[in-house]
Parts: sequence; structure tokens; C-alpha cells
Amino acid sequence: MQRATADRISVTCAGAQTSTTAASITDNGILLSLRALSSISPVDAKARTITAGPGALVGDIKRTAAAAGFLFAPDPTSEEESTIGGAVACNASGARTFKYGATRQHVQALKVVMANGDLREFRRLNLEKNTVGYAFAHDPIDWFIGSEGTLGVIVEAELSLLPLPADVVGLSVFFGSEDEALRFVVSARESQTVAPRCIEYFDDQAIAIARDETSGVNIPPGSATMVYVEEEVDDLDETLGKWSELIELVAPGFEPIVFDGEARLREARRMRHSIPSTMNERGGRHLRTGGRKVSTDWAVPYTRLDDAIRTARAIAKQYDVSEPVIYGHAGNGHPHQNFVARNREELTTIEKAVEQTLRHVIELGGTVAAEHGIGKIKRRWLPLQMNSLQIAMMSAVKRELDPHGLLAPGNIL
Ligand SMILES: Cc1cc2nc3c(=O)[nH]c(=O)nc-3n(C[C@H](O)[C@H](O)[C@H](O)COP(=O)(O)OP(=O)(O)OC[C@H]3O[C@@H](n4cnc5c(N)ncnc54)[C@H](O)[C@@H]3O)c2cc1C
Repeated sequence: MQRATADRISVTCAGAQTSTTAASITDNGILLSLRALSSISPVDAKARTITAGPGALVGDIKRTAAAAGFLFAPDPTSEEESTIGGAVACNASGARTFKYGATRQHVQALKVVMANGDLREFRRLNLEKNTVGYAFAHDPIDWFIGSEGTLGVIVEAELSLLPLPADVVGLSVFFGSEDEALRFVVSARESQTVAPRCIEYFDDQAIAIARDETSGVNIPPGSATMVYVEEEVDDLDETLGKWSELIELVAPGFEPIVFDGEARLREARRMRHSIPSTMNERGGRHLRTGGRKVSTDWAVPYTRLDDAIRTARAIAKQYDVSEPVIYGHAGNGHPHQNFVARNREELTTIEKAVEQTLRHVIELGGTVAAEHGIGKIKRRWLPLQMNSLQIAMMSAVKRELDPHGLLAPGNIL
């Protein structure tokens, strides 16, 4: 970084390059791979922390923590192929963010190489009360989490751990329609009897992909939609009984599938992962003709999810674009709406449909990007959500930390 600053050469950090927003690719200056900094320290059981280099895979950190009886909670679907540096830089989240929050809540300290080459450590204060100065300057660690490589290079992360839950059960619940499934999502979220750690929704196109996959999960014929939930359990029969009562209230009809034990839960994860990776493959077939997968990660308050999805579908129809696949973190009002553009013209039309959808999402009190960040691809939609004052404040922080604008040019701002 010292040399890059002296020579005024841009530097874009790369972890495993699974970003969906072009945040970790560049045609400008140096692409700095952090993959080789992949060490993982033994768990500090007393402090309930684990320290890792930015290139360590999230899945490897989770396994090291689990072997010592702890849970590292962040769980992006891409956890087996993405790095902790990328997860921190994007504030990644996953299905269990519903219970545990996104990556930010689990980062205790960061070592960061600043644009000028200085090595700095930022440690979370964990103050219960604080009235000193502006809130955005209270915990500088938060500037770097979600900064998408634009403010510094993360070279080490100290992460907080939770006790590992003893037993977890997963449940796939099937419905005849989208309406029923979305009503079930709201019931599960508001229920006083069940305590899910994730609530995920899959539309008919998404379960068609899961059906085709060899995930080992037998999806019942005739079902049109699915909601997948997980709960940490003391008494399996009692927990399953409570879920049955809830299903009975909303829309009985299909036998749910129970995923009990680590091997079965892995099957459920495989099924879940098959959807974005199949969509990536489908999009990848059209790169030569200027097409690609277009993924959205907008979110709305969970009670507005049915309105948001209904409107998103109507807008896609109005633009006459390919039927989107809709699946994801419904418990947080956060589905993914994925399209495949087969060529440049379709891409332009899909992006128009997405922009109109995002305007509606903002009207519903939502966000244009709940977990993938802005990167380069979604930069044009930043002003839909942030006013000029907010953008000016972010630019001021960027100028202070990276005065020559060398870090990850084109990301976010
Ligand atoms: C199939 C699939 C499923 C996915 N599922 C999810 C999901 O469930 N949840 C989710 O949040 N995301 C998901 N993603 C998106 C992506 O996997 C995550 O954002 C992930 O955290 C990126 O990690 P990475 O190592 O690939 O980072 P990269 O893509 O390499 O980089 C991402 C950003 O982080 C910056 N960066 C990387 N390392 C550093 C560092 N050491 N210091 C500073 N900046 C750095 C880069 O410059 C870039 O801006 C998915 C992607 C795919 C392909």
C-alpha cells in the first residue's frame, strides 16, 4: 500500500471473488488477493473469540469454532467458497441472520492496512452508554465492516463466538400457492410458540431447481411453494408438534420434511445452495452475448413482503422479461429475485424492471441491497435510497481515509 500510494496506483482487494456486484474485480491498477492470509487461530474459549486472516474460508472458521464447542454465527450460503475478509467487507448475512444478525455483530476487532500503508487496529468498544461526539465516530470498526474494500485492507479479524446449540431441526413446509406460503412466513415470525432461527421462502421456480438437483430431498408432487425453517431444540417431539399446529392453522395439505441431525441438515443446505449456483450457471451461459444472471437483494419490512413480491412480479410481466426465480430470507422480508438475461437487450430491459421494483421497495420502507452490498453494478441505485447529504458524508469519510481515491475505485461511490 505504501508503494501504491507513492506511485498513485489503485488497489482492489479480492477474497474468493464470489461477490455478485463486481466489487472484487477491476480493470484499474492492482488486484490484491488476500487468499494466502488464511490462518485460523485456536479458539480463545475464555474470551469466546477466534482470530483469522482475511483469506480464511467462512466454512473453515465455523468448523474450527464448532470443534471447540462454539458457533460462529454468520452463514452466507456461499460460506464454503467465500472468505472472512469478503464477509466482513460486505457485512455478509445468511439464513440464520434472522436470529443472530449479520456479520457486523460478530466482529470484535480488525487489523487494517490503511491507504497510506499504516497498520491500525480497531477494537469494538462495547460501551453500554456513550454520549461523546457523533454516533458515526463512536466505533470506527464499523466504518470498515461493509465498506467493500474502499476504506482499508483488512488483514486480520477477531470474531465473537456463541455457545454451539445442542440440537437443531430443519423443516420444509410445502404449500399450494405463494399466498399461503407468505402467510405462513408472517405466522412463523409472529408466533409465540415456535422460535425459528431462520425462515426461508422458495417459489415454484426455485423448488423446480431443487427438484432437479440431486440434493436427496423428495419434494412432494403438487406442491407449488416451500418455506424452510430451523429451530434449536430441547425436545424434538414438542417442537415438531408446535410447528404442526402452526401449519394446521395456515394451510395443511402436504407432509413437511424433517431434517434432523447434522447429515440431514447438510442435505437441506445443499438444496438451498443449489438455487443460486444453478442460476449462476444459467446466467454464465449467456456472457458471450452480453447476458448474465441479474440478482437482486432488496428487502422490505416482513409484513410488506407479499405486497413487494406481488408488485415485483407484476413489473416483470409488464416489461415482458423472463420469469424471475424468487427465494430467500423471507423472515427478514428479504427475498432474492433472480433473472437470466440471454443478451444485452434483455439485460437492459431487466435492469429497467429491477429499477422500477426498487422504487416500490423504497416506498414500502425497504432497502435496495440487504446483503450483497453495492459494488459497481448497483451503484446507480444508491441515490434511490440515500440522499445527497448521506452520500456527501460517506464521500468525506472516504476522502479522509483514502485521500487519493486508490482503494477499490468504482465501488459504492
Ligand atoms: C452462490 C452464491 C451464494 C451467495 N450467498 C450469499 C449469502 O447468502 N449472503 C451474502 O451476504 N452473500 C452471498 N453471496 C455473495 C458473496 O458470496 C458474499 O458477499 C461474500 O461474503 C464475498 O466473499 P468473497 O471472499 O468472495 O469476497 P470477494 O468477492 O473477493 O470481495 C467482496 C468485497 O470485499 C472486498 N474485500 C475482500 N477481501 C477484503 C479484505 N481483506 N479487505 C478489504 N476488503 C476486502 C472486495 O474488495 C470486495 O469489495 C453469494 C454469492 C454466491 C456466488
